[in-house]
Amino acid sequence: MVSQEPPLIELRGIRRDYPSGEGVVSVLRDVDLTIRRGEFVAIVGASGSGKSTLMNILGCLDRPSAGSYRIAGRETGNLDPDDLAALRRETFGFIFQRYHLLAEVNALANVEIPAIYAGEAPADRRQRAARILERLGMGERVDHRPGQLSGGQQQRVSIARALMNDASVILADEPTGALDSQSGQQVLEILDEIHAEGRTVVIVTHDMGIAERAQRIIEIKDGQIIADRPTGARLAAPVPASQQAAVPRGKGRGWLSGLGSRLSEALRMALLSMWAHKLRSFLTMLGIIIGIASVVSVVALGRGSQEQVLANISSLGTNTLEIYPGRDFGDRRSGRITTLVASDADALALQPYVAAVTPSVSTSATVRHGAEAVNAQINGVGAGYFDATGTTIAAGRVFGEGALRDLAQEVVIDENTRNSLFPAADDDPVGQVILADNVMLRIVGVASVPQWGPGGGQNLTLFVPYTTAQARFLGSSILGGITVRVADDVDMGLAEQAVTRLLIQRHGTQDFFIRNTDAIRQTITATTQTMALLISAIAVISLMVGGIGVMNIMLVSVSERVSEIGVRMAVGARQSDIMQQFLIEAVLVCLIGGVLGVAAALGFGLAFGALNTSFNLSYSGVSVVAALVSSTAIGIGFGFLPARSASRLDPVVALTKG
Ligand code: ADP
Ligand code: MG
Repeated sequence: MVSQEPPLIELRGIRRDYPSGEGVVSVLRDVDLTIRRGEFVAIVGASGSGKSTLMNILGCLDRPSAGSYRIAGRETGNLDPDDLAALRRETFGFIFQRYHLLAEVNALANVEIPAIYAGEAPADRRQRAARILERLGMGERVDHRPGQLSGGQQQRVSIARALMNDASVILADEPTGALDSQSGQQVLEILDEIHAEGRTVVIVTHDMGIAERAQRIIEIKDGQIIADRPTGARLAAPVPASQQAAVPRGKGRGWLSGLGSRLSEALRMALLSMWAHKLRSFLTMLGIIIGIASVVSVVALGRGSQEQVLANISSLGTNTLEIYPGRDFGDRRSGRITTLVASDADALALQPYVAAVTPSVSTSATVRHGAEAVNAQINGVGAGYFDATGTTIAAGRVFGEGALRDLAQEVVIDENTRNSLFPAADDDPVGQVILADNVMLRIVGVASVPQWGPGGGQNLTLFVPYTTAQARFLGSSILGGITVRVADDVDMGLAEQAVTRLLIQRHGTQDFFIRNTDAIRQTITATTQTMALLISAIAVISLMVGGIGVMNIMLVSVSERVSEIGVRMAVGARQSDIMQQFLIEAVLVCLIGGVLGVAAALGFGLAFGALNTSFNLSYSGVSVVAALVSSTAIGIGFGFLPARSASRLDPVVALTKG
């Protein structure tokens, strides 16, 4: 009578060679072995004879160097890593001599792991893991971590884990090797029960007393099977399904919900591992925190100062042209150039593209009021000056055309001068008379001082009609300059050309130069753009440095957790599951670092605002979002290599290295 069903396990000509020095060492040599469904097989042999090597091949943790291994008729030699992971997850349950439990999580979570990779819903798998643990006498200790359990208890947790996915084949490599005889006895009884449930059990031992419990003993020596005999042990009575250790799984697990639970497991493990190495995680994050914080605050600083400068420039009026004698500022001949005169200003005022014109001259004088005496700049200006330059009046009024005609001795002082000459807060300067180089001037108004730009700062400035300044202070009709406000709808460049042409025509030569405030604005904008580029370059460099730190620590983390990776692979984790777990950890470190960095930058802004009121940091939502996006990208970018190296570990190498 020949069975139609192919044998559950069928090895033909299996070899396992390891490179050793020059040549190879053959640990398994031409092993032929057939195991049928429901058998209870013991593999015995001296230490080093190749038992574990054989078990690892049976459990698809390792691949043979040569030969054929069929599981239920299916050749395993041409399966890809994911198929092998599926076999480890669904078909085999591995029990190790040293338990190989995850130390950071409790018994229940350890038992749950195979079901996570099988995609079972959290509530279902938790309930089932608890029931299996209870059946194995561990109901009281589901919350204990491996470190809080005895060896026998840990081995029962590991058996529960092997049963979690309802494996049909249980592979136990010296399961009692590390146990005292009483705990060992309990474990063997459990294995008997598991066998009685109809599962195939393969146990490795060097104890003949234990081997005799099996139905069949296979003896292995120097990598070869030297004996294969039945023991005559009677089959245990089948255990009714209701009392079976493993609780059959529910069906209907969606792929998507499975992915979700695997992702949340990966997230949980990442948080656990970060928590387990708090200081290290924090130091790793510090690179990212400092990088992100400095980038966000430097960008805010740059924006803040740019906004302020541009605000001051635009308060000056962005559409003014300033005409000065000479070729440029500092031209030594400019004092001798006498061609820029009031009639030039009059001619300019007639041009259609000109909105306002004010001639200007300047000198300095000692200004007195009562006992106070200060040195101040005297600016002789036209009535249109305040309008043309956007200078605002804080008190009083400006002088009019009449004052210019009459050479009136009227003056508008600026706030700095007021503060110097009229220190008493309740002393209203408007209407009072001051003495500038013995010229009596009546104060008609007080002008505000811009914070930035021309006329700003601590200078003391007095504005008088330019005709008065020429007659009383300078004794000449030469102008120091002409300020032209260009009409709003006229292009500044064209206006500048037209003014140049007109004045060349009047003077016969270009003995003047023009300063275009719009050009200043453009220069400032261009400068800040250059700054932004520079800052971005520094940002990229600092984030690269942070990212390399993350990569370094992730590589350390992977090498520290090789055995954990081995365990996860042994219970059926796919390469992508391992990859995800480490990528998520890297992204989490970077993202938390990014959030803390942004928080630090905002805190810095608050502190800065409290210290210095005249200067603000301007945070943009874009830079905050960019910071978070780039920290995530750093996590993925620099976490990829370590995560990939983790996922490509060989399960059996990972397990034995750990
Ligand atoms: P057992 O489990 O029967 O004690 P093993 O299967 O663990 O024996 O090992 C059998 C032989 O294979 C030993 O001599 C061991 O040194 C050798 N061996 C196992 N793993 C490796 C490896 N990765 N590289 C080289 N030799 C190995
Ligand atoms: Mg061994």
